[in-house]
Amino acid sequence: MTVVPLVFFSLFASTAGLGDLRKIGILGGRVVIYYLITTAVAITIGVSLANLVKPGVGLKMAASGDVEAILGKVNQVSPSVVRTLIEMVPSNPVKALAEGNMLQIIFFAVLLGIAVLAVQGEKREIVITGAQGLSDAMIHMVNMIMKLAPVGVFALGAGVVAKHGLKVLSNLLVYALVVVAGLALHLTLLLLVSLYGLGKMRPGEFLKKARAVMVFAFSTSSSNATLPLTMETAEKELGVPDYVASFVLPLGATINMDGTALYQGVAAVFIAQAYHIPLTLSAQLKIILTATLASIGTAGVPGVGIVMLTMVLTSVGIPVEGIALILGVDRILDMLRTVVNVSGDLIASVVMSRFEGK
Ligand code: ASP
Repeated sequence: MTVVPLVFFSLFASTAGLGDLRKIGILGGRVVIYYLITTAVAITIGVSLANLVKPGVGLKMAASGDVEAILGKVNQVSPSVVRTLIEMVPSNPVKALAEGNMLQIIFFAVLLGIAVLAVQGEKREIVITGAQGLSDAMIHMVNMIMKLAPVGVFALGAGVVAKHGLKVLSNLLVYALVVVAGLALHLTLLLLVSLYGLGKMRPGEFLKKARAVMVFAFSTSSSNATLPLTMETAEKELGVPDYVASFVLPLGATINMDGTALYQGVAAVFIAQAYHIPLTLSAQLKIILTATLASIGTAGVPGVGIVMLTMVLTSVGIPVEGIALILGVDRILDMLRTVVNVSGDLIASVVMSRFEGK
């Protein structure tokens, strides 16, 4: 109910909110490429670790639908990367929205966001403000629904354990540990390769100065709530020029979610393993592509990553009900992935300053 409108409005509003694309120019191009590459690396780490450790193997979940039909759908929806790219373009955007075809929805929302920048004056402002309002309303709706989450988690968790035994819990622990290990690995890579290699800053110095931001991100689980502190730290502590911080960081809090993408990669493979759905290489590449795009549309507020996970699962035909398995441990993983999300933004601001010759 919430995913399609949330993705559409928030992605449209954040693309249109970038302002004049030409003026943003080189800095914008560089940072978007940087964000996409780091996100794709994050999710590749997640998918690879989950394939290696196999946290979901041994679980005997059966989808309520016909498994054959699901398997058929997996094969049918993951034919080739080239076809995936071509099929990203919807022939009818309303159909894409009605069917929840996420790649097509994302493609259309971004294109519409870019196109609206060409509309002049009041008309443009009304459309963008309206979309931002609707996006806020959708986030509020998610929060309202999430109030029921404790009851839902209890009922789903009890049901799953009663049906499948305690084995589920040990698999769940391994799953959570794989996510944590992936996040730690990605943060280390970011620190060493991006910060030290490209930004020419020592990781120790960064960690000392960014400590407060990380603690704040952990305790709020929200990139958006942390944004004011992230910006202040970048400018005052890390020496990032104003114009770089004020562009790179809000954009990062909106579209750059390395931690979330990594977690989605692990979760998708975990659920597929639990339901005995073999993932072909092209299905895994599709997960990487969808999760990279999903993380762009993930709002920087608590718990949205798991809502967007439904989109990744749907794109390769993994049963969405598998989310019930991992919902119980999501809050703590949300706290941890938000730390990586925010650190990724902050490191990007240092790297971009260096690229700008500052
Ligand atoms: N809580 C995350 C953030 O704000 C998003 C998510 O993964 O739910 O960065």
